[in-house]
Amino acid sequence: VLVEYFFILVLATIFVLAAFAFIAKSLSRKITKPLVDIAENFPNPEFHTEIIRESQVSSEMVKLTQKLIDSHEVMSNFHQQLSEQVHNKTKQLKQLNRELYSIAQKDSLTQLLNRAGFNRLAITSYRNCVRNRINMSLIFIDIDHFKLVNDTHGHPFGDKCIIAVAKTIQKHCKRDTDIIGRYGGEEFIIMIVGGEIKEHNERITLIKDEVEALSLLQGNNIVKMTISAGICSLENNFSIDYEDLLQLSDNQLYISKREGRNKISTEVR
Ligand code: GH3
Ligand code: MG
Ligand code: MG
Repeated sequence: VLVEYFFILVLATIFVLAAFAFIAKSLSRKITKPLVDIAENFPNPEFHTEIIRESQVSSEMVKLTQKLIDSHEVMSNFHQQLSEQVHNKTKQLKQLNRELYSIAQKDSLTQLLNRAGFNRLAITSYRNCVRNRINMSLIFIDIDHFKLVNDTHGHPFGDKCIIAVAKTIQKHCKRDTDIIGRYGGEEFIIMIVGGEIKEHNERITLIKDEVEALSLLQGNNIVKMTISAGICSLENNFSIDYEDLLQLSDNQLYISKREGRNKISTEVR
């Protein structure tokens, strides 16, 4: 009998333990399941409302979910704002880059290319002329006695004169292949490509005569000015590099100045 009781006791104990284990396991599953669900489905917004609506979920779990939803919203708003800011800043930077590039290549007074801008385009064009033996001319133009104009009528009026000369040059150099630059204070540079050398010369003569005919008004005074030009044209000998070509044109400008100004001097190679 004692052995029988003992056997029943052992069985009962095993049964109770098993029951406890089972209850503990289902309870823990009930507690952890919503947590696992939240973790797995968190990025899905529909799931949040589903979880909250579920009646068997404890109020703590609802609070936890709500807090997670709120912080997720804060994070995604922040992320969106950040992306927008990055996008806008990138756009601004690109625009700024374009402006900087254009400032770096252009002269603000005349809107012509500045020295760097001119050289950049002219070197490429010149290489093409040399390769294909295309007639071309490089021309320096300088306003005569410009210091006197400035000293007599003032710097702002001097600026107007520079603009007037720039416009006259532009009027006669409108082809796609014509490159015009303001090389320095009252000095301009032109590259004319293709056609006859004689025609290049004629255009510069027109510019010179037109500048001479200009009458700029300063109060009641009529101010006149002249320009000098130096041309180096290539039609046979293309074996000079760009820097030497600049020097040859500048030499011709110097000759025009020395010979009394309001003149054009040309070297043809
Ligand atoms: P030359 O006939 O030998 O060329 O004599 P020049 O007086 O024209 O030459 P110089 O080099 O002695 O003087 C050039 C003057 O150009 C001096 C300077 O004040 C003026 N100048 C340079 N840049 C500007 C500018 O942007 N605006 C104005 N108004 N004047 C300028
Ligand atoms: Mg001058
Ligand atoms: Mg000068």
